[in-house]
Amino acid sequence: MQPVFIGSEIYRHSTYGTQHPLAIPRVSTVIDLCRAQGWLNQQNFRVSPCAKPSALHAFHTPDYITALQQAEAEQAVSNDTRSRYGLGTLSNPVFAEMYRRPATAAGGSMLGAELLREGGIVFSPAGGTHHGLADRANGFCYLNDPVLAILTLLKSGLDRVVYVDIDAHHCDGVESAFAGSAKIRMISVHETRRWPFTGALTDTAGGAAFNLPVERGLNDDEFYTILDQLILPATMSFRPQAIVLQCGADAVAEDPLSRLTLSNNAHCRTVAALRDLAPRLLVLGGGGYNPWSVARLWTGVWAVLNGTEIPDRLNNTSQSTLRGLRWNRAAGKRPPLHWFETLRDRPNSGEVRDTLRADLAQLAARLL
Ligand SMILES: [Zn+2]
Repeated sequence: MQPVFIGSEIYRHSTYGTQHPLAIPRVSTVIDLCRAQGWLNQQNFRVSPCAKPSALHAFHTPDYITALQQAEAEQAVSNDTRSRYGLGTLSNPVFAEMYRRPATAAGGSMLGAELLREGGIVFSPAGGTHHGLADRANGFCYLNDPVLAILTLLKSGLDRVVYVDIDAHHCDGVESAFAGSAKIRMISVHETRRWPFTGALTDTAGGAAFNLPVERGLNDDEFYTILDQLILPATMSFRPQAIVLQCGADAVAEDPLSRLTLSNNAHCRTVAALRDLAPRLLVLGGGGYNPWSVARLWTGVWAVLNGTEIPDRLNNTSQSTLRGLRWNRAAGKRPPLHWFETLRDRPNSGEVRDTLRADLAQLAARLL
């Protein structure tokens, strides 16, 4: 069974506004690159449906969903709605598709979970909105598609799901949804002392979570140590029927919203390592605020999921797509050539710090 890519054109033209970190193309560029490389076709691409309110009620409160739809219809919020639901804020602004766009991402991730009923691999790069709360918008996330996808998997009869989150930020919304659950094991690696400031090493979410906050400057070798000593053993020992990977692209060196310094080889190796550990794998996107690094990383993930070798140099059509991107940050003025010509970053090797080893030992003790 070949992996399925779930996407939509809604991401191409809708934007959070000109100043928002998400005012950059992401999924649309991934689709363009995958098409240009010949990695998408009629068989492996599915258009994401827009989730209906009733489907979203599996996690979100009906009054919040109503408020979100009303905000989209009126293109304005009252002070009461802003304070009660977190809508119309700097991080979760009012914009034209503020219900339809996240509801499409949620619909895609839920469709992905349904397609996995008999097994397989699904990639839903618009998903991964791991901060969304049941009754309010939070951290750029209006809905929580990872939670909705996991609930869909549980509804289909599964009772052992591992959720792995390698976004630079802690998955506070997912953790609060499944705290204390015996059916879900959550494993999160995130930058310490960064918003939302949850996910401490000692925070186990009632036994359901393994949280590893990491220091700034995290390098590839440190990440591989985390993969070998935490992510893989904690996944395998749970004997998952399904794995959901939130593969946020903001822990790489050139991302403006974190101080982690991975190369995208870390993400590709994670995907390759998790691919065969369960009969079902749902890979989601997440954060990622540099348009080149997001597009290159998630396109590389799709290649890895398919067992397709990543070429050393992209073809001309792909390079034109990457050269056509614009970004109003300093780093966007003169992008390095490898952002145009390649998918893989150069590795960022380094020493494995003792503090990391000690933290990993503390978490590994819980697996004995
Ligand atoms: Zn993030």
